[in-house]
Amino acid sequence: MAKMIDMKERTKREQVPMREQLPSARIHNFEEVPLGYTKEEAIYEAQRCLQCKNPTCMIGCPAEINIPAFIRLVVEEDFEKAYLTILKTDALPAVTGRVCPQEEQCQKECVLNKKGKPIAIGRLERFVADWARENKIKGIEKSDSQKEQKVAVVGSGPAGLTCAADLAKLGYQVTLFEALHKPGGVLVYGIPEFRLPKSIVEYEVAGIEKLGVKVVCNQVIGATKSVESLKKEFDAIFLANGAGAPRFMNIPGENRNDVYSANEFLTRSNLMKAYLFPEYDTPIKIRKKAATIGAGNVAMDAARTALRLGAEQSYIVYRRSRAEVPARAEEVHHAEEEGIVFHFLTLPVKILGDEEGRVTGMECLRMELGEPDESGRRRPVPIPNSNFVLEVDMVIDAIGTMANPIVARSATGVEVNQWGYFKVDKMTRMTTCEGIFAGGDIVRGSATVISAVGDGKFAARAIDEYLLSGKSLRKNS
Ligand code: FAD
Ligand code: SF4
Repeated sequence: MAKMIDMKERTKREQVPMREQLPSARIHNFEEVPLGYTKEEAIYEAQRCLQCKNPTCMIGCPAEINIPAFIRLVVEEDFEKAYLTILKTDALPAVTGRVCPQEEQCQKECVLNKKGKPIAIGRLERFVADWARENKIKGIEKSDSQKEQKVAVVGSGPAGLTCAADLAKLGYQVTLFEALHKPGGVLVYGIPEFRLPKSIVEYEVAGIEKLGVKVVCNQVIGATKSVESLKKEFDAIFLANGAGAPRFMNIPGENRNDVYSANEFLTRSNLMKAYLFPEYDTPIKIRKKAATIGAGNVAMDAARTALRLGAEQSYIVYRRSRAEVPARAEEVHHAEEEGIVFHFLTLPVKILGDEEGRVTGMECLRMELGEPDESGRRRPVPIPNSNFVLEVDMVIDAIGTMANPIVARSATGVEVNQWGYFKVDKMTRMTTCEGIFAGGDIVRGSATVISAVGDGKFAARAIDEYLLSGKSLRKNS
């Protein structure tokens, strides 16, 4: 069995890198890019942990994982116990281990940052979850003490799944309603296979179902069923319907063929299985030169997907500079390695086309950075008369998403702000209607998987308190 090593050695060791598919190979397939740690690599990395008495890493983890405890168990080669330790608070460890921006969360707080690189907490979490899946380790079972109260969760993204799992662990009868034919939210319809394989999300959703959560797909709350009718059937409700409505640039030519929203483009690739061509012949036309507008994680995913689906050139067009790019550094690095070309300080103003409605180019303006705006980032300012045409024949809008009003419209008494996001109490995530809670992107706007997980946990705790106090939507309706 491996053992803890002395303090001097722990601080001397370098962080173990993760092996990856070579860029030349991976641009032709949809298989995962990072390959995960081997058992030996995981133990070697875990041995670097100082096992701090006041583990600051835990402050940065909204999933509330007992980080030093699970890392210690990796060193002791008790991977099963490490898995159960993580699973106690995080129902989606293989997901969060892959797509959580750890460098801004737990790893940012690790004391080893003072000397060098932090512990690779996310990679270790991924290793443990993958090991448990491969070794068919039983997760947490359905609670023995079943309660009578019923909770409805709307939306099966990370916020809804987490809230449902935490409430089921407490013994509540949870029904999770999902509009699409598959649960998982952005984890299945947005994030591509090469970053988060669908089979992994399916496995973790199945684990949540084993806790007793009933998943009902193809139910658009607000259309097939209203929030008002849920109030009559359930004791409490958690709204986690995300912010999936696409946002457009509103420039001339955006209605041409071969102009997609990133949402539509990625959904066609992910849910309609374009990534399995020629086995599945999905209606998604790929041209030779694709321009993706925006530079967040969504833009990186769209540009890299276009390349894998056959585009010869894939560009990122961004109005600010490299320093302001919002995507994770790792995703930008991967995109560059794969040959994605970045056009910084470039603002599209018109999409050009032929008589048949096809895209033939994109007129852009060059920008320069001015004074900081309200977000603290320097404001991009157009350079007069700097227009030029970027030769492209396909455009993907990845400038963000917004709230779809369908759920809010059917929820009497639940107030939204000026952008259509639900107003909630910061501590409890309760909306302006007692008994109805909300979290994830439909409260924050486009945010992160881990913030959605954190909201799901906060709301589950508050719903438990609400129901323990004897209150109930159903009884009051
Ligand atoms: P969602 O994941 O959006 O789930 C909401 C669910 O509600 C969906 O399944 C939807 O179909 C369902 N729904 C909507 N309306 C209804 C209705 N009326 N009735 C029933 N169900 C409904 N974050 C990261 O941390 N790291 C990343 O690497 C990352 N990459 C991303 C890549 C892409 C392409 C995208 C789009 C986002 C990415 N994000 C990333 C952001 C992250 O995925 C989201 O912040 C997160 O998924 C929000 O979770 P959620 O549970 O609030 O909503
Ligand atoms: Fe280990 Fe870093 Fe957390 Fe300390 S802060 S317990 S070294 S991961």
